[in-house]
Amino acid sequence: MSDSGHIEIRDVSVRFGATEAVSGVSLEVKPGDFVSVIGPSGCGKSTLLNIVAGFLRPSVGEARLDGAVIGRPGADRGVVFQQYSLFPWMTVRRNVEFGLKMQGLGANARESAARTLLGMAGLLAFENHYPDQLSGGMKQRVGIVRALATSPQVLLMDEPFGALDSQTRTVMQEILTNMWQQLRLSVLFITHDIEEAIFLSEKVYVMTARPGRIKAEIAIPLPRPRTPDMMATPTFHALVRQLKALIREESLAAMGGELGSTGLQGLDHHLGREGLKALT
Ligand code: ADP
Repeated sequence: MSDSGHIEIRDVSVRFGATEAVSGVSLEVKPGDFVSVIGPSGCGKSTLLNIVAGFLRPSVGEARLDGAVIGRPGADRGVVFQQYSLFPWMTVRRNVEFGLKMQGLGANARESAARTLLGMAGLLAFENHYPDQLSGGMKQRVGIVRALATSPQVLLMDEPFGALDSQTRTVMQEILTNMWQQLRLSVLFITHDIEEAIFLSEKVYVMTARPGRIKAEIAIPLPRPRTPDMMATPTFHALVRQLKALIREESLAAMGGELGSTGLQGLDHHLGREGLKALT
């Protein structure tokens, strides 16, 4: 396994004007690790990812990649957002080749690198299609492949499957875990989906409501490679329960504590599982 791609966030706080978004956060992604951050909406998950991506400087503290303080974006970090960010006028393969072209790679090398990754993502048959000829799941797969094309040490993903329906999402999780298994790069993954975080990760950080702090660090002891049938195991269910309890506390705190305990029970009853999930 590679020994590069070591992310360290140390004592980071972020203020936006009068708003303290993140407070005293430290977290680590070891080289080749898959780490998720989960927490209620607005707790600063994207803010942390943007710091590691180099889009944002912390007000206090620092983020390091392989020991060097992160100050700007770089080709050593691929980023995938929820919104697809493909060039609509380029074919799938040209989209994937774009970053390699910017790096000055020749046409043959670009094509070969792009086709290898497209094959891993099950997209080779679509290399000459344009983005608007693809489904949402396929577009996001192209986005992931594009972020991986320049061989970054780190992949940063911010709710990458948030816009997809649940069946497509499950398939995407399987494809991602398989690709990660082969490439073994470091991944920092932001999500508010508990099952997704458990299925994909070696470690899950749970954040508090704003200002976001690290509330818990949960190791995921499921074996590799991960397969969907693991979601039916007692270990998986116990982890879901544990994380749900942690997140529920924070989601309710994020609602401002304006509900009393009777109100909370009522809320639970009215919203059910999906509703509570939507609050996180
Ligand atoms: P999350 O990803 O957990 O939903 P964010 O990191 O997007 O949370 O945001 C954390 C908090 O910081 C939120 O209250 C958000 O409104 C605020 N925030 C994020 N970016 C900015 C910004 N550029 N200017 C002002 N406030 C911001």
